[in-house]
Amino acid sequence: MNRLAGKVALVTGAGRGIGAAIARAFAAEGAAVVLAELDGATAQTTAREIAEAAGSGAARVLAVPTDVTQAASVQAAVAEAERAFGPVDVLVNNAGINVFADPLTMTDEDWRRCFAVDLDGVWNGCRAVLPGMVERRAGSIVNIASTHAFQIIPGCFPYPVAKHGVIGLTRALGIEYAPRNVRVNAIAPGYIETQLTHDWWNAQPDPEAARRATLELPPMKRIGRPEEVAMTAVFLASDEAPFINASCITIDGGRTALHHE
Ligand code: NDP
Repeated sequence: MNRLAGKVALVTGAGRGIGAAIARAFAAEGAAVVLAELDGATAQTTAREIAEAAGSGAARVLAVPTDVTQAASVQAAVAEAERAFGPVDVLVNNAGINVFADPLTMTDEDWRRCFAVDLDGVWNGCRAVLPGMVERRAGSIVNIASTHAFQIIPGCFPYPVAKHGVIGLTRALGIEYAPRNVRVNAIAPGYIETQLTHDWWNAQPDPEAARRATLELPPMKRIGRPEEVAMTAVFLASDEAPFINASCITIDGGRTALHHE
């Protein structure tokens, strides 16, 4: 408890899935949390749940409809967070979408949609908070990448290209602003059970077979839970990780270390 006491955090795509778990964990650790989410209704519901879990008046939580593909929208969310709670100490760039296609039949629209959310969205978040963090010489940015950031599955193009970019952005900004005590790190989750994963299973010819195959892949014979990603986000956001910068922590139960099934 209270590992993030006194901090103000903004989490993108926090209405559901990994982002919602991170927002819950941050609030439980004492942070004021802003849920910057495309779907305003989902964000409100999650914010209400967080407030209820904390008891009356205890949680400082706010839902702000935000589209990470629009720089002005993210800047407005940061401004609203600052008005409500003060300067943003922690940003989690979590919003992301799966765009899985065959490279040569993929449409230009698919390419742009993928990069608009998965890479531009991360940059829009970073550039909205960095000026304040640099000025205050304090801040932690956590970018949710993916194991697709360093491993390729055929047919998943161009999602891994954007996620490779997230690692590049993390490393570049981490180095750029290290002298100002702003840390920029990434988390690379493997399969985590969220709506995104269920949508992917349901898009397969045999959803149940796809689900079973996914559960067989990891050495631990299970996929991850959003809360397991949230615990690492708390650590990276907190003052317990002051010398971790421009790094990426993989959360996949050992899957990427496995050479053969
Ligand atoms: P979900 O689809 O469950 O949640 C993503 C959230 O982001 C949704 O609430 C969605 O809102 C929101 N969002 C989408 N587009 C935007 C946008 N333009 N602006 C603001 N919010 C937006 O996904 P996960 O929780 O599974 O994934 C979260 C992150 O983790 C993503 O970056 C994903 O790539 C990454 N990841 C997930 C893995 C997994 O197995 N689940 C594995 C590796 C990485 P709406 O519902 O309105 O679209």
